[in-house]
Formats: sequence, C-alpha cells, structure tokens
Amino acid sequence: MTMHPTVLSLRGATKRFGGLVAVNALDFDVHENQVLGLIGPNGSGKSTTLNLISGALPATDGEIVLRDRDITRLPPQAIARLGVARTFQLVRLLPSMSVLENVMAGAVFGHRRRWGRAAETHARKMLDRVGMGRKLHLGIGQLTYIDTKRVELARALAGEPRVLLLDEWLAGLNPTELEEGVALIRSLRDDGRTIVLVEHVMDAIRSLCDTCVVMAQGTKIAEGTPEAVLSDREVIRAYLGD
Ligand code: ADP
Ligand code: MG
Repeated sequence: MTMHPTVLSLRGATKRFGGLVAVNALDFDVHENQVLGLIGPNGSGKSTTLNLISGALPATDGEIVLRDRDITRLPPQAIARLGVARTFQLVRLLPSMSVLENVMAGAVFGHRRRWGRAAETHARKMLDRVGMGRKLHLGIGQLTYIDTKRVELARALAGEPRVLLLDEWLAGLNPTELEEGVALIRSLRDDGRTIVLVEHVMDAIRSLCDTCVVMAQGTKIAEGTPEAVLSDREVIRAYLGD
C-alpha cells in the first residue's frame, strides 16, 4: 500500500444542517492512482461529503487535508487551485458559453493554470479525451444529457487535478451510454488519476473501485474492497432499508 501515498484525508469530517447530521465524524483516506467508491443509499451524505472536500459547504467539525495542506477552511477557488476538481450530481455548466469556453474555464481556474492559447489547446485535448472533439462550438443548450456530463468531466480534467470527485456521473445514462461512461472512467483510472467516485451503479462500482467507503445516515458503516463491502450484511441492510 505504500506504493500509493495518501493524497486526501478526512478526519472526523462533520456537517450539520440544523438538527440533522448529514455527515458524521467521517474518516477516510484517498490514495494516489486509486479509485475510492463513496457509496450508500440516497440521503446518506455522499454529495455533502464532496461539498465539504471541494469547499462548497463549510465543515461543522473535523479536518480535510490535501497532501500536507489543511484545506478545511479554504474557499472553493483555493481548493480547486490546490488540486481538487469535481462534477456535480446535477450538471452545472455556464449556459451562455460554448462547450469549448466552459472547458477553457476549467483550464484557467484549475490546479495547473493555463491562459489564452495554452488554455484553448488543452481544453480541446480534454474534449477529445471525453469524445466531444467535434462539438467544441455547440452551445450548452444544444447538448444531449450525456454530452453535458462529458463536458463537465472535461472541465474538471482541464485543470489537471490531483483528485477528481465524480458525483453520480453515470446516473441517468441509457445502457449503451453507461457502457461508454464506464469505459471512459476506466481509462482515466488507467491513466493513474486519483478519483472519488460517488456511484449507485453496482457493476460500475465493482469494476472501477479499488476500495469503497459505505455511508448510511451520515456515518461510515463499512470500508474495504468492493467485493467485501457489497456482501457485508450491514451494507445490504442499509441499501434495502429496514
Ligand atoms: P446523498 O448524496 O448521499 O444522497 P446528501 O449529501 O445530498 O445525500 O444529503 C444528506 C442529507 O443532508 C439529506 O438528509 C439531505 O436532505 C440533507 N441536506 C443536504 N444538503 C442540505 C442543505 N444544503 N441543507 C439542508 N439539508 C441538506
Ligand atoms: Mg447525492
């Protein structure tokens, strides 16, 4: 395991919304070149966890460390700059800008910043990478659902993040798109990217994740290989509801 140094650590990460503890003293480590699956039933706190990591929401308690840097209190732009990029459960693109411009924004404001021509060249490369090389000049409103997902992924990749957070990137795809989507994420993994994958699609979790953290009602209830956690009784009970 020493071959995969820790890139990101959550230590007692907690988020309360009034009386609701959405994320409860959560601990886990994300290792370089690995895919960590963050799974659990709806409402278990997965998106909130990504919001804490990316700085979209301030943590109520606990620490989040990116390499040696405490990022817990930093604003989202600073965290992006330090190397965390994400996609959203509900795609968020700038509708008044083209596909290419959206991805250029990722290159300009990401971990490795590029400007002008360099940003454009790199954005084009990332759009090629996700299969959008021929749709550079379309408006966001002209895109199919999966293409909006591809563009958002290209935007996240464009900043060359140290950690990529994907929030149900595969949700809502038809079977053919799902196959393509899994292949795309697998290719990112094969490139050695470090990924936190929030996902419901079990086959994707099995085939893509090195380890899984399972949440239920804000709390980590299991951690281990996909095979181990998906056959864990408590995990099965959490998914089925009791
Ligand atoms: P998941 O992504 O696992 O489905 P979420 O992290 O979205 O779960 O939500 C966890 C819990 O926190 C849910 O009960 C949800 O209603 C609540 N929650 C999420 N965001 C907010 C918010 N901004 N304000 C109040 N409650 C929230
Ligand atoms: Mg969610």
